[in-house]
Amino acid sequence: MDPKNIHKTARSFSKPFRVTNGKKFRLKDHDPGETLDFTGKDKPRAKEALAAGVQALAELQGKLYAQDQWAVLLVFQAMDAAGKDGVIKHVMSGINPQGCEVHSFKAPTSEELDHDYLWRCSKRVPERGRVGIFNRSYYEEVLVVRVHPQILKKQKVPRELLTKRIWDERHEDIKSFERYLGRNGVLVRKFFLNVSKEEQKKRFLERIDTPEKNWKFSTTDSHERKFWNDYQRAYEDMIRATATEEAPWYVVPADHKWFSRLVVAAAVIDALSSLDLAYPKVDAAQRKELTAAKKELLAEK
Ligand code: ATP
Ligand code: MG
Repeated sequence: MDPKNIHKTARSFSKPFRVTNGKKFRLKDHDPGETLDFTGKDKPRAKEALAAGVQALAELQGKLYAQDQWAVLLVFQAMDAAGKDGVIKHVMSGINPQGCEVHSFKAPTSEELDHDYLWRCSKRVPERGRVGIFNRSYYEEVLVVRVHPQILKKQKVPRELLTKRIWDERHEDIKSFERYLGRNGVLVRKFFLNVSKEEQKKRFLERIDTPEKNWKFSTTDSHERKFWNDYQRAYEDMIRATATEEAPWYVVPADHKWFSRLVVAAAVIDALSSLDLAYPKVDAAQRKELTAAKKELLAEK
């Protein structure tokens, strides 16, 4: 990314992957192996661009924090081994840890199951001035729960509310929740890391064959793989129903990790630079105070 024009470049670079209206969205139109005009040989160029992006992000985040009005919520969803953790680690590497928080949502605890499903997530929505990252989110409620209806049965939702319309209703409620956040000054951006089935297999085998990666592999992951097509359908439906202008989805090609990191960085830069962030200005009275304080400091013996 050209550092001089980074905001503009980030916008046009991430645009092909942004979905703001799901009506015509089809997952099959999105190639997980896409790298635009980058080839494998351009990896060093991509790395350089990412470094420039990370720096630009750090500067924007500094303003977000100082201004203390907007919050930014980044939601990450993906099949296993799509690279969520790596994207989060790399893209956020330049950000001041004080202004950023990551929350991972696993299968709900019994306390969480005693509440509505948004409860545990809404408690973690970032405060003003912060960037919050959801590593999985309330979207699991229309993904894993939809693919495995027995999970829904265990959810303690009154039976009469479990109708055929439940997935549409959940999509609608999630959309409303995000609109509510937007109207409160929480900017929402959502990322689906789109990995192919072949690449997932390759990464699973790597996790099994490399001792340092063994810990990353769980047999549940290969079990979930058997439901690949059901997941793809659920993802497609979810994106169709919940992509909006205010809270767009990014369908990020994820077969090449270096490329997916670049797309996510660009999308986050674009999001932050859409906010017109600025360091708070001091007024005349504050200026006077600053001058007085300076005078006092300089007069110290
Ligand atoms: P890793 O990359 O380390 O595998 P992960 O996000 O897959 O990260 P895991 O602990 O392996 O983390 O898995 C979390 C599991 O919790 C996922 O299988 C996910 O589907 C499940 N989960 C998350 N939210 C819900 C939910 N609301 N209901 C049921 N299961 C859920
Ligand atoms: Mg996992």
